[in-house]
This record gives sequence, C-alpha cells and structure tokens, in this order.
Amino acid sequence: MYGQMMYQPLLVSSLLEHAANYHADTPIISKNTDGSMHHTDWAGISSRAKQCANFLKSLHLEQGDRIATLAWNNHRHIETWYAISGSGYVCHTINPRLFPEQLIYIIQDAQDKVLFFDQTFVPLINAIKKHIPNIELFICLDTYNESVKEALPETVFYEELIQSQSGHFDWPELDELCASSLCYTSGTTGNPKGVLYSHRSTLLHTFASCLPDSLNLSSKDIMLPVVPMFHVHAWGSPYVAAMMGCSLILPGSALDGDSLVQLIDQYKVTVSLGVPTIWQSLISSAKKLNSTLPSLNRNVVGGSACPPSMIETFKTDFNCDTIHAWGMTEASPLGTVNHLKGKHLNLSKTEQFNVRLSQGRPPFGIRIRLVDAENDNKPLSNNGIETGNLQIQGHWIVNRYYGQENIALTEDGWFDTGDIASMNQDGFLNISDRAKDLIKSGGEWISSVELENIAMAHPKIDMAAVIAAYHPRWDERPVVIAVKSTTGQITETELLEFYQDKIAKWQIPDKVIFVDAIPLSGTGKMLKRKLREDYGNTLI
Ligand code: AMP
Repeated sequence: MYGQMMYQPLLVSSLLEHAANYHADTPIISKNTDGSMHHTDWAGISSRAKQCANFLKSLHLEQGDRIATLAWNNHRHIETWYAISGSGYVCHTINPRLFPEQLIYIIQDAQDKVLFFDQTFVPLINAIKKHIPNIELFICLDTYNESVKEALPETVFYEELIQSQSGHFDWPELDELCASSLCYTSGTTGNPKGVLYSHRSTLLHTFASCLPDSLNLSSKDIMLPVVPMFHVHAWGSPYVAAMMGCSLILPGSALDGDSLVQLIDQYKVTVSLGVPTIWQSLISSAKKLNSTLPSLNRNVVGGSACPPSMIETFKTDFNCDTIHAWGMTEASPLGTVNHLKGKHLNLSKTEQFNVRLSQGRPPFGIRIRLVDAENDNKPLSNNGIETGNLQIQGHWIVNRYYGQENIALTEDGWFDTGDIASMNQDGFLNISDRAKDLIKSGGEWISSVELENIAMAHPKIDMAAVIAAYHPRWDERPVVIAVKSTTGQITETELLEFYQDKIAKWQIPDKVIFVDAIPLSGTGKMLKRKLREDYGNTLI
C-alpha cells in the first residue's frame, strides 16, 4: 500500500564510482618523493584502485581485516585506500611521525595484516619489524627498487603486483554500517586509541563537508590537502574531492613552505587544508618568493586554534578567505566550521572579521553542548560567555573506541571532547583550550590560546606556545615559549609589554623563553606536554 524510495547503502566505493563516471578526466597530480610529478585523473585512479582490489582479493583475507598504510599524500595512497575500504577491508592509516613504541602499539592493537608503505619509511619499518609479526605482507608503493629490497627483503612492489590485474572489479555491496577505516588518536596521554569509521559515517561526513557553509566545494575546485592522509583522512579530502569531482594536487613528502607555494602557483590551487604551523611557513615562503598566491581563494585551518593575525594576513596580503574549523579524530574530524550567516552581512568589516575568528558552528548532523564537568555535567548556557567542557553528538562521532568494551560516552549519550569552550546562541564556538592546557592561576583560569594569539600577532614572533609553569604562590602561571621571526630582534620585556591593555594584568605571562624551534607533534601541533616537561619548573 505504501510507496517507498530505493535503498542503496552509503559506501565509500560509490564515491570513486561517481568520480570515475562523471569526472573521469579531472586531473589528480602528485609530487613523487624524488620531486618529479605524476599526472593521472579520476578514471586512472579508479581503474588502478580496481587493479589493487583484484590483487587484494587474491590474498583471501576476511571482510573487516585491517590493512595499514604508511604513506604520504599521493596517487598510490588514494588508490590503495579506495581499494581497501571499497573491498570491505579496513584501511588503517598510520601516522609515521609517532614514536616507534606507539607505532608498534597501534599496529599490534589493530592486528593489521598487510602494510602498504612509501619508500621513505623503510628505515622506520626495519626498526620495528620484529615487533609486528602480525604483518604478513609488506608492499612498497612503488616500482621494483633494489635498495628497498636489500634493506627490507620481504618487500613486494605495488606496481609489480597490480600490473597483471584487471582494471575491472565490481565493488561488493557491503552493509553501510561496517567499518571502512581506522585512525588512532595522537595519544598525548596514555596509549593512542583507535577510532573505527563506518561507510555510512564517512559518507554522511563527506556530504556535510562539501556544503557551502563547510568547505564550499565544487567541481571547479583544485584542492591541495597539505594535512596528511594519516591525520583523520586528510580531513576527508580524498572523499570530498571524489564526491564533488574536484581536482587534487597531492604534495607527497614536500611539505615545506617553498614547495607548497610552488604547487599552489603552478597548478592554480583554489583551496588548501592544513594546520596553523603549515600556514605559518607558507606565509613566510610566499613573501620571500614574491607570490600573492593569486589562485588560492580559501584555506581551511584546523587542528589547533588559528591565530587571528593569520586570518588577517591571508585576507590582506593574499586575498584569501580563511575557513577556521574545529574537529578531532573522534569526529571524523568535522565538528564546526566558521562561515558568516545572512544576518552578519550587514555588519561592518571589523565586526564580520570578529565573527570569523571563532571555530564556527556545527553543520547539520552535529549537535554540541557545554557542560560544567565539575558540577555533574550541568548544561551551561549559550551566551557566548560561560565556559565549560565541550560535548558532541552526531552521525560521525565515535561511540566506542576500537577494541574497547566500554562506550566512550557520558551516561546521557554525549562524547566529551576534552576541549574547553564558550558558545553563542547560533552555536558559534570559541575554544579556549584543551582542558589539560588551561592555566589555573590562584584559582582562576587563563586560556593559553588567547595568550598565544597575542604573541603571534607581534610581527617579530614566528611561533608561540604558552604553558602553565608551577608557581609557589599561584600554583600555575603562564610562560611564553617563543620563536623570533627572522626579520627582527625582540626582547622579553618588549613582548611582555605587547600584552599590556590586551588582557587583564593578572593574565600577562610571567616570563618569555626564546627558543630556536617549538617541538611539534606528528600532526604538526605544538607539543605542549614536552614544553611543560622542559620548562614547567622555570618559575620555581
Ligand atoms: P586530533 O584528534 O589530533 O585532530 O586533535 C583534536 C584536538 O585538536 C581537538 O580536541 C582540539 O583540542 C584541537 N583542535 C582542533 N581544531 C582546533 C581549532 N580550530 N581550534 C582549537 N583547537 C583545535
């Protein structure tokens, strides 16, 4: 009696099928590790992904088995990634910048059976090989190479394996709730935890990420994902690009500012994604190379708070709109994105700029709330002032970590992000810190992010991290660890004076320590834990 719509499972393979069917000749260009460029298109990626899928089929693995990749952003990584998930296995993207013990831990925890890797990582694999007996097959993502074979004799070579395979393959019709990929959190406290994404969660996340108030993508875009594919799927870049039929420019291992400026200018990149530390070096390089990055009309910044000065520089010096987004591994990663709303269009430029500084608001599919964690998770009001623990729900949020028995949610079904934020009535979020990075001075909280943003706005500072240092009277006081820019000299007194009138006097840091470089995590975030270890006692 009742009518009904067609049911088709939401599958990762359908993204590639779509790109191959309707955007077949859209270029996918990758930088090889030797610096040369490789040109293909969505049709080429699709047919080689199918060759790879035929090869994987010959291994007689079981559906749901984990297959790991240890690779840069390049075309072979995209092919294997679609082949693995599309065939019903789980694509575990590994962050090569983790410590060897963490690598061993996650490869064992995931019980990966096959490892695809780029040549660069041979020494890394050799160092941990005897601890990962679960890996049955080591596949180098390249043509045959004598030196790789000598260094890691069990290696087989991707191009040799797939060359005899057919480019025809019918992607299986999987249950959309089954797992498609696995990423581990960066594990700044304790062991990394696995987040297992499903085909369905991935597809819904992809739809939401493409929208005008998210990444605002179209088939006209030429996208440069600087954020690595091992950092929460390059924030979904390979998926959204396939869904929209964007062109992809893949930077390989060359993530320095000069190389990125060259790629953007040569291939007329329109949109790029990365963490603030990447943009910092890109800005210096663009200025040095006299490039105004004319093709780049927007850049997506997330992973850490984007300093307001960076948003301003991108607009005034490069006519590029920064899209500030907040997310995390547990959120696939998209949680909130900053775009003006209709009602903001009548505001002055300065007022609009101020709206655009925050981490933005949730797309459909995500709900966020703030609670007072020290007071029974009592919900806080969205008045833009009250600050509390940020909790999240949605179609692409973790429910339970990989291999763990317990649900990772509060009793009433929310995931606690570990971030501290305020939120206004429209859901615009202002992240003030990770809960563990907040500074508690004499019982009052100070946001390290706010103090970092001020330091970063000083023209003679390139990078700044603010940490809590132990203090005999106030328990904790803020200390700035800063890297001077190459263009100027600055003293501790000058930087501390720069804080005057920008924040309350008691929040001004006690000390500045200048260093040559700030240690970064595997995903390019400032390693505050390490800084606290090194400088946490500097005021005692
Ligand atoms: P990860 O899972 O490694 O991507 O790290 C997620 C964490 O990065 C979040 O919980 C935040 O603490 C931080 N983060 C991500 N995006 C932002 C942002 N735009 N502003 C401030 N912190 C951010």
